[in-house]
Amino acid sequence: MIVFEILRKINRYIKQSKKSKAGIYLSPVRRIERVYPLLNERVCAMTFDDGPSALPPNPPRSNATLASASSQMDNMSNGVGSLGLTETLMTILEKYNAVGTFDCIGGTQENYPDKRGKLHTAKWGGTAHDHYPDFERDQFAGILNQPELGKSVLQRGHEMANHGGRHVIFGPMRLIYDSRTSLSSLESVLEDLTLFHNFAHEQFNHTATFSRPPHYIDGIKGGLNAYDVYAMMGYQYMAASFDGGGWKPSKGQYNEDVEAMVSPLRKSLDADANTLNGQIIFQKDGCNMSLQTPIADALEPQLQILKEKGYKVIGVGELVKRSPFEDYGEGHAHFEDARTLINAGFIVAYKNNSFQPQRILTFGELVAMTTPKDLFVALTALKTKQLRVDFDYAKWHVDKIEAAFVKVRTTHPYYWMFKYAKKQGYLGQYMDQWDIDDSMDAHRCIQYLDHVLKAHQVELNTDQQQERARLCSELMKMATPSLKRVEILPLLKATLESAKLL
Ligand SMILES: [Zn+2]
Repeated sequence: MIVFEILRKINRYIKQSKKSKAGIYLSPVRRIERVYPLLNERVCAMTFDDGPSALPPNPPRSNATLASASSQMDNMSNGVGSLGLTETLMTILEKYNAVGTFDCIGGTQENYPDKRGKLHTAKWGGTAHDHYPDFERDQFAGILNQPELGKSVLQRGHEMANHGGRHVIFGPMRLIYDSRTSLSSLESVLEDLTLFHNFAHEQFNHTATFSRPPHYIDGIKGGLNAYDVYAMMGYQYMAASFDGGGWKPSKGQYNEDVEAMVSPLRKSLDADANTLNGQIIFQKDGCNMSLQTPIADALEPQLQILKEKGYKVIGVGELVKRSPFEDYGEGHAHFEDARTLINAGFIVAYKNNSFQPQRILTFGELVAMTTPKDLFVALTALKTKQLRVDFDYAKWHVDKIEAAFVKVRTTHPYYWMFKYAKKQGYLGQYMDQWDIDDSMDAHRCIQYLDHVLKAHQVELNTDQQQERARLCSELMKMATPSLKRVEILPLLKATLESAKLL
């Protein structure tokens, strides 16, 4: 177990260094661990991985109020009797007016042949694969096996994310999961996520927009990673910042395991009541490594503590809509403009979900900030023929950019953004001479955004002209040769609004 903890620490270190590297380029996909705290209220989110599960909690709960709260869903547990784990968690959440984010799987029954794994280790649910909720009991969990339960998660007002069709890791991970089978390519990861995505869409009319890779394993064979596949799916990478602890192997005593989930939360909030504001708490909708579900008894005291400290637990989607970035939020200059842009699907944040308002704005960034993230979904729809978006829409986008030529190397993260801008007519001829990494002064910014307006044949009325003149003169007052990212926001937003892109 000590070795296991050390490996986890190494893994955490690798993740940290990845995170700082993820702050270099703007990206359609952001890895969202936590968001900037809201100004006048305390909110946090909770994600529940690996369900939905119809099996009852282990050990069973004898809470009479919960049992009687069991609705028509009682029949759904396929003879297992009492309230299933997911229903138990939903019932507790609802008692506290809390919304959960259920990070669901499709089903793990396809993960055979396999051998039973060793309890109290990461392999407890199978050696080559995971089996949820347990080895040989796959049929009790996942939306493919328990569609009514999946539907009820949404009907009861909770959120649902895509945790993989079969909970197979995206790529090999020698460090911890050396004996695991992993998916073999980007296409197979896409196929696995699509299995879940399409089922949820067809059966529940739900369009997933968040995903967390099984076991957080990012790497995909061929030098690719989760960001690549999420860009194609139109997803955000849902991470978490506070560990609810429900995955850990038992300390030996169930009550101790429950307390181990409650006390870190209590201690953190006693030290600083605002500390969880904007955070995402990692929880399980399944067993820990010892085949028990302490979450079923820890959730209520956790919610009680949060309530006492004035917290509201909301869905991750809702949280991110209200406070999209990790380092920039309510109370900061022009934050509302940035929030409008990102919620409308423009690529304005970095991979690590920072906004970095004080960073110098480059030409490449300005072009990226006028690109809709849907472009990436459209491109894949055509390439893979897996149509998650309307085919004509995809074809229109790709036709428009196919013939374009720009002086940006094809492997540059902004390549498609430049192709798009060129074909849209955003780039004046002389702009071909600007370097992608050139910092932008007010003159150049105004020139580029004027081109955006021209490309959309916008005729401004007198009021709009006056407002634009005001915003431009504000920008010209920034005497520095290079603008900061935050300074372009008002004019950028006004431009996209005038062009009817917002
Ligand atoms: Zn999982």
